[in-house]
Amino acid sequence: MTNEQSPGTMRRVLTIMLTILLALTLLLYFGIKNSDSMRRTVELKAVDTMANIGAKRMREFAGEEGSVAADFINNPIEVRVIAEGIYQATGVANTHLIATSAGDVLFDSGLSTQVPKQIKVLEEVRENPKLTHIIVSHSHADHSGGVKFWRQEGTEVIAHAAFAEEQRYLTELQPYFWKRNRTLFPFIPEKPPEIGLIAYGGIEPDRVVGNGTPYQFTQGGVDFEVIAAPGAEGADNLLLWLPQQKILFSGDFFGPLFPQFPNIFTMRGEKIRKPVEYLRSLEMVAALEPEVIVPSHRAPITDPGIVKDGISLIYQATRYVHDQTIAGMNAGKTVEQLMDEIVLPEEMQLTEEHGKVSWAVKSIWEYYATWFHFDRTTELYSVPAKAVSADIVSAAGTEALLARATAYLESEQPLHALHLLEIVLDADPNVESVLLAQKAALNDLLVQAQENGKNSYEIYWLQYQLRNNQAAMTANTNKGEN
Ligand SMILES: [Zn+2]
Repeated sequence: MTNEQSPGTMRRVLTIMLTILLALTLLLYFGIKNSDSMRRTVELKAVDTMANIGAKRMREFAGEEGSVAADFINNPIEVRVIAEGIYQATGVANTHLIATSAGDVLFDSGLSTQVPKQIKVLEEVRENPKLTHIIVSHSHADHSGGVKFWRQEGTEVIAHAAFAEEQRYLTELQPYFWKRNRTLFPFIPEKPPEIGLIAYGGIEPDRVVGNGTPYQFTQGGVDFEVIAAPGAEGADNLLLWLPQQKILFSGDFFGPLFPQFPNIFTMRGEKIRKPVEYLRSLEMVAALEPEVIVPSHRAPITDPGIVKDGISLIYQATRYVHDQTIAGMNAGKTVEQLMDEIVLPEEMQLTEEHGKVSWAVKSIWEYYATWFHFDRTTELYSVPAKAVSADIVSAAGTEALLARATAYLESEQPLHALHLLEIVLDADPNVESVLLAQKAALNDLLVQAQENGKNSYEIYWLQYQLRNNQAAMTANTNKGEN
């Protein structure tokens, strides 16, 4: 992808802007003139129209890329019956409704732009219009996005005691996170949504649940237990446990795959995730002995044997990687050595599509030791290695460095090659032969990633780097033609 805006893109941007303008006018008009229910209908329609335009754009782009994220976007929005009176509206993230004779309870609320459709499909199965509780599994936009839509007079919104702080920093740093997200998921819109209903944040829970103090209530004969489970996707994880049915609604506690190696680190950039808290939460979850797990992404896991073994495996693998990292730190090994050495033993094999073991090692290291690795003096100061790249290139010569890099590529050491190529590109980002070698190194890494581990984020990053590489080569060609 280049930075040039094609006429098609401009048209799409204009259409989106006009739709937003129209929606805003309608919102304002009906906001003043009409009843709440009329306004709500208009609001839902406006958001849905915007969402349809956005989704089409995403599908076009994601389809081209053939990425895992495309699976999520293309996920149809429909109702799945989990048990009697327990429904799941599917989508990028799932919304769950537990119907009782005394009113309904919602667990997670989906991505704001998908809420109108999720509301529509759930309305078809609902009998009682009263919504008594909304439980938010954590502060991420794909779980909290629907709260403003669903909340009624008298609905109690329940979140973790750490929710407010997580929501605060995610809101304050939104431009930073958005930029990173757009790099990894280039099909998302240029700017985050700013209209009240679909804008991120601003949720004030009516009740908070702290670590170690579950909140229990019974409604229409159904027992509910809201449990704090910190670690994994953040400090503010809540689970919903239905002890009578032995069903655990897990939000993102286990991640999008089950079982998987946990995403202790996220490339999107967020606060560090705490490994030992996660281990404690896993112990607590195992003690509940759930038979069904209902995650907020993808389908429920309904085989009690798979649930039990999966939880145990995730625990063992996380514990192993954590303890090995500590042992290595105590033995005086470097973080890079440990990233290389620590691999899951045969009996603890788990997919690394979402969380990658070597990145967890680095995260655990930095969780305990923070960023100073006690290695080089220059780590402590603001002058980066690239400040002297041009000196290295002028002393060694581009040709000599490129020859070394090519030799590394031939001996299947793409990272050694990349180190040298990056030095040359720091000094001059447009050397055709160097760009070609960089492309080969990135492609080698991409093939490796696709063959071992298939980590989605690693793949997104390498694809992003390859797009940049392509853009630089195209710019060179254009310059040559002018
Ligand atoms: Zn999520």
